Amino acid sequence: MSDVQIKSANTSRRNSPILSIRARLIVVALLAIAPLMFERVRGLEKARAERAELAHAQVVDLARGGAEAQREIVDSMRALLQLVARLYARVPLDAPDCNQTLSGLTNNIPWLRGLDIAGTDGRIRCATDPRGIGLNVSDRPYFQEALRSRDFGLSDYLISRVHQTPGLIATFPVVNANGALTGIVLASINLQWIGNLAASAARRSGTTVLLVDGIGTLIAASADEAELVGKSFADRALVRDMLANDEGTITIAGLDGVRRIFAYVRVPWTRARLAVGLDESVVHSGIDREISIAYLQLALFGTLVLLAAWFGGERLILRPIRSLVRTAARFGRGDLQARASKESWIAEFEPLAAAFDDMARKLAGREEELRIANQHLEELASLDGLTGLANRRGFDRRLEREWRDAGERRQPIALMMIDIDYFKLFNDRYGHVRGDACLHAVAETLSLVTLEEAVLVARYGGEEFALLLPGLDIERTAALAEEACRAVEDLLIAHSESRRGYVTISVGVESLVPGKNQPASDLVEAADRALYTAKSRGRNTVVAHIPALLSAAS
Ligand code: GH3
Ligand code: MG
Ligand code: MG
Repeated sequence: MSDVQIKSANTSRRNSPILSIRARLIVVALLAIAPLMFERVRGLEKARAERAELAHAQVVDLARGGAEAQREIVDSMRALLQLVARLYARVPLDAPDCNQTLSGLTNNIPWLRGLDIAGTDGRIRCATDPRGIGLNVSDRPYFQEALRSRDFGLSDYLISRVHQTPGLIATFPVVNANGALTGIVLASINLQWIGNLAASAARRSGTTVLLVDGIGTLIAASADEAELVGKSFADRALVRDMLANDEGTITIAGLDGVRRIFAYVRVPWTRARLAVGLDESVVHSGIDREISIAYLQLALFGTLVLLAAWFGGERLILRPIRSLVRTAARFGRGDLQARASKESWIAEFEPLAAAFDDMARKLAGREEELRIANQHLEELASLDGLTGLANRRGFDRRLEREWRDAGERRQPIALMMIDIDYFKLFNDRYGHVRGDACLHAVAETLSLVTLEEAVLVARYGGEEFALLLPGLDIERTAALAEEACRAVEDLLIAHSESRRGYVTISVGVESLVPGKNQPASDLVEAADRALYTAKSRGRNTVVAHIPALLSAAS
């Protein structure tokens, strides 16, 4: 991987950590509340399942009770039909007062619409309603079934030919003393009455009762579904399931589309099924509400935890970190007084803030030490080791400053350039050690002579010196230079190669009021020219102010 790639990889890792501190806090908080959430929801779901089980048990009981009530009706039907069949086993089916006799027998039986007696050929011989006499029912399945079974039977739902109303036909064979089948007693049953009975047997709030015959026709139903009676529902999943089993439970949409918990039982003697259904929403209404409230509570609680983690993370962690970063950044920018302890910190951050301040104090101390050391080095770098005077570097810096100040004050600033005469020869004659001592003595003398006037006495290079004298005009400077010349001469440092026999100096003097944007080098060059002139005039002399043109001419 190249450097560039490494750098970009590092940068992206820094910019997008997998999870921020706040996200981590939230994950931890969620992990903490997840088991509570899970436990509460599990408890409620369990209660819901228990309630559903209880509802199942209830509808099974109700369905069985309802079927039992149906059985009692069927039993009493059977008893009545048996009675009539016995009676007509001894008398002819079409006895003259047959119809009246039948009517008398069936009076005041609420579920019975009419009673007929058919011969084995299927013709009605005797009937409570005389309009039915002569009708042929030989093609009817219930009749054929009665002939075949020679026992009590109950038809599926049908429209009575005689009464043209929906009903059921109960059949019972008439068997004479010889054991021969002579006819069939047919009872037309009032379905509505049976339905009401069935409904009342299993009535409670949210309960629906259905009585379905063997081919899927609704025979009876509780009031809210009464208008569906007579219609076939053989294609409905509920009815298919009911007809496929003698007994069972199923939770499914009822005939009206409402989801219910159904229990159904086959009605004894018949192929009909009685079903009792409890509205699932009613069964679960309380618990579903509780579950909803629990989920709402959990959502609220979860949100509160998230908010607490978010703002807590912000206040307890991120804000102190940002504050520390700001303080460190201020410190980094050089504000050495920046201290973390100026703010109030939560307990966990206090040691960090204290450690930061300690580090800041130590760094500030080191910085101060460094500053002093640098200043010292700076001074050393501006000094000449031999004479203890400022060196060329020191001179240049001071000159700039004094030149600027003089310019601002509109005052003159003077410069003496001094060079020892025939110093090469001195060295040659007396050696370098004596040469150094001579340089030292001359430096000291120059300093002493100009003690009050010169702000700087510098060793300009080799055996040359430069003296800065702010405020001095050219005359006063020249006079002072003369004084310096004499003072050096008076040192009486023997120099056999010099004209006077002693060490002497030549001095070039200039004094200028700095003009606007005039460089300080103008002053140096002018003094230099004067010094050059002094040399050319025979040395051991002072020359002041040699204009550039004049210098070029000489
Ligand atoms: P002039 O009168 O024209 O100035 O002649 P001069 O010999 O003084 O001039 P020049 O510049 O030729 O010689 C300067 C000499 O100064 C050369 C060198 O040997 C000597 N010198 C420079 N620096 C030092 C120093 O630090 N110690 C010693 N002992 N001699 C030095
Ligand atoms: Mg020289
Ligand atoms: Mg010289």
